[in-house]
Amino acid sequence: MALVVQKFGGTSVATSERIMAAARRAIRARQAGHQVVMVVSARGDTTDELIALAREITEDPPAREMDMLLSTGEQISIALMAMAVQSLGWPAISLTGAQVGILTDRFHTKARIRTISTERIQRLLRDGYIVIVAGFQGVDEADNITTLGRGGSDTTAVALAAALDADLCEIYTDVDGVYTTDPRLVAEAQKIARISYDEMLELASVGAGVMHSRSIELAKKYNVPIHVRSSFTDAEGTWIVAHSPELEQQVVRGAALVRDEARVTVEGIPDDPAIVHQLFARIAEQNIVTDMIVQNVSREGRNQVSFTVSRSDLKSALALLREIAREVGATEVHSEEDVAKVSIVGAGMRTHSGVAERMFAALAAEGINIKMITTSEIKISVLIDRHRAVEALRAVHRAFDLGLKRDTDDGQPPRQRPTEPVRADRQESLASIVQQLPGMEAIVVSDIVVDRTQGAVTLFDIPDQPGIAARIFSRIAETGSIVDMIVQNVSREGTTHLSFTVPRPDLHRVEAALTPLLQELGGSLRLAPDIAKLTLEGVGMRSHTGVAARMFEAFHDAGIRVSLINTSEVHISIAIAEAQAAEAERRLRTAFGLPAAKTVNY
Ligand code: ADP
Ligand code: ASP
Ligand code: MG
Repeated sequence: MALVVQKFGGTSVATSERIMAAARRAIRARQAGHQVVMVVSARGDTTDELIALAREITEDPPAREMDMLLSTGEQISIALMAMAVQSLGWPAISLTGAQVGILTDRFHTKARIRTISTERIQRLLRDGYIVIVAGFQGVDEADNITTLGRGGSDTTAVALAAALDADLCEIYTDVDGVYTTDPRLVAEAQKIARISYDEMLELASVGAGVMHSRSIELAKKYNVPIHVRSSFTDAEGTWIVAHSPELEQQVVRGAALVRDEARVTVEGIPDDPAIVHQLFARIAEQNIVTDMIVQNVSREGRNQVSFTVSRSDLKSALALLREIAREVGATEVHSEEDVAKVSIVGAGMRTHSGVAERMFAALAAEGINIKMITTSEIKISVLIDRHRAVEALRAVHRAFDLGLKRDTDDGQPPRQRPTEPVRADRQESLASIVQQLPGMEAIVVSDIVVDRTQGAVTLFDIPDQPGIAARIFSRIAETGSIVDMIVQNVSREGTTHLSFTVPRPDLHRVEAALTPLLQELGGSLRLAPDIAKLTLEGVGMRSHTGVAARMFEAFHDAGIRVSLINTSEVHISIAIAEAQAAEAERRLRTAFGLPAAKTVNY
C-alpha cells in the first residue's frame, strides 16, 4: 500500500463531468489499495473572476480580504469533489487549509507554508477516507486565511506529500506533461519524459507555468517524486525526479518565456560596496524579487546597477530606487517596461561548449537585439523587446532541436524513490539541513563552492546591435573554450559592456581570437586572470528576496567588491578578486550559518 497525493488543476475540475472523472480516478487508486489525498484548485477561471470582481469594487483591494475572497474558489471545489466521491459509494471528506492545519507566514497573497499538521489527515486515511484538501490556502498564526500566490495549489500538493511522506505526488492538468516549452506558444514542443528537480526548478522560475516553482523547491528539499500528467487520458506524463547523469546527455532540456518583465537601472552610484548593499537590502525589505542583476564599475569610478523585476513591481521599485539614489548621490534612475525574458535550461550546459553561441546566433538570425544577458550553471537568460518574445522563443527552441522526438527520452518511470549515486552525499547533507529549517518553505543555502580555475574577460564599449553577441561567442566557441558566467549590461549611448569567464589557461587564446573582431567593431578588452568564482548552492535562492542583500552585507565592510553576479533558484555565483576569496568564503559561511570549509587547499 502506498500513499498518493493527487492534485487536480482548475481545468480538471471545471465542470461537474470533470469533477466526477477526477473522483473516479481517486477511487481507482483507492481500489488499488492506496491511501489517497486529493488537492484541488478553484474551478476553471474562478480565481480570475474573483480578482476581477474585487477590482470592480476597489482598485487596490486589501490583501487580507483578497485572501478571504480567493480562498472561496477552492472551497467550492473540495465540497463538490467530496460529494462526487461519496455519490460513487466511497467515504470522502473535504478540508480547508485551516482545517488541515496548513500554517503559513502572514504575507497575504504570497504566503509561504511553515508547517502542516498531519494527525487529522492520517487518522482519516487510516479510517479509509479519501481526503480532499483545498489547494492554494492556509492560515497564519492569528487565524487569518492566507493564499500562496497564483498557481499555488501545486505547492499545497507537494507540501502535503512531503509532510505525509507520500510515495508519489501526481499533478493532473490540461497538458499531458512538461514540454520543452509552452505547447500553446510553440506547436513543435515535445513532451519530456524525465527531468531533474534542478532543471524543473529553473524552468518553472523562468516562466514554464505548468508548475508553481515553489512546489519544485519543496520536491527537491524533501525528495518527493512528481508525475505531471493529463487529467483527460491515462498516458504516461513527465517524471520530475532527483538528478541522474543520463539526463545530461541532452544539453538543453527546455526553453521558457516571461513576458511581464521590466528593467531598472541606477547610474552613477558612488563606488562604495556599502551602497550597493543598502540598495539590495531595501529592495528585499519590500519583498520585491530581483532578477538578472548586473553591476559594472564604470571607468569614472562610479557604479551602474541594473536588474529586472516583475512588471507589477516596477512602480514600487522605481519609487524606492529614486529615494535611494537621492540619498546616496547616484546620478540617474531609468527603466524600460516593454521587455521580456527568454531562457534556456539544461544541466548538461555545465560541461558543453558553444551553448551560449548557439542561442545568440538564433536570435541574431531573427534580427532580435539582446538587451541584457545573465547565466547560471544550468541556464542562460536574455532580455529582449517584448513584441518579439514569442518569435525569440520559437527561434531558440528550434536552434536546440527541442522540437525533435527523442528516443533517449522515453525512460521508464521510476517505481521507487529515485536516488542518485553521484550526488547522494549532496542529498544527504540537504536532508540534514532541511530537518532544521524554521519552516517548510524556508530558504536553504547548503554549501559554498570556491572555483579558482577561471579568469574573466570584459569587453568595453561594444556596439549594442543585433548579432554582436553571436559574433563574439562564435569566435570564442572556435577556440573550444567553455564559457561559464556571462553578464551583459544595459547599453548607454549605443554601446554596452560584456563580461564572461573562461578557464584561466584559455584566456590568451580567447583574447587573440577576439582582438581582430574588436578592431572591426570598436571597443576594448580587459583580462582579469586573478578572480575566484564563489557559488552559493541551495534551493529557492532567487524567489526568496534578500539573499543577494545578505551577501553584499557580508562583504561591505571588508572592501570586497563583487565584479560579476549571476543568480538562479539553485545557485548564486559571484566573481571577486582571488586574493579576497578566503575571506569572502569565511564571511559568507558565517552569514548563511554554514560550517567552516572542510578542506583548505590554497
Ligand atoms: P492547472 O490549472 O492544471 O494548474 P496551469 O494552467 O497552471 O494548469 O498549467 C498548465 C498550462 O501550462 C498548460 O496548459 C500550458 O499552456 C502551460 N505551460 C507553460 N509552459 C509549459 C511547459 N513547458 N510544458 C507544459 N505546459 C506548459
Ligand atoms: N486557484 C489558484 C489560481 O488560479 C491556485 C491554483 O490554481 O493553483 O492561481
Ligand atoms: Mg497551475
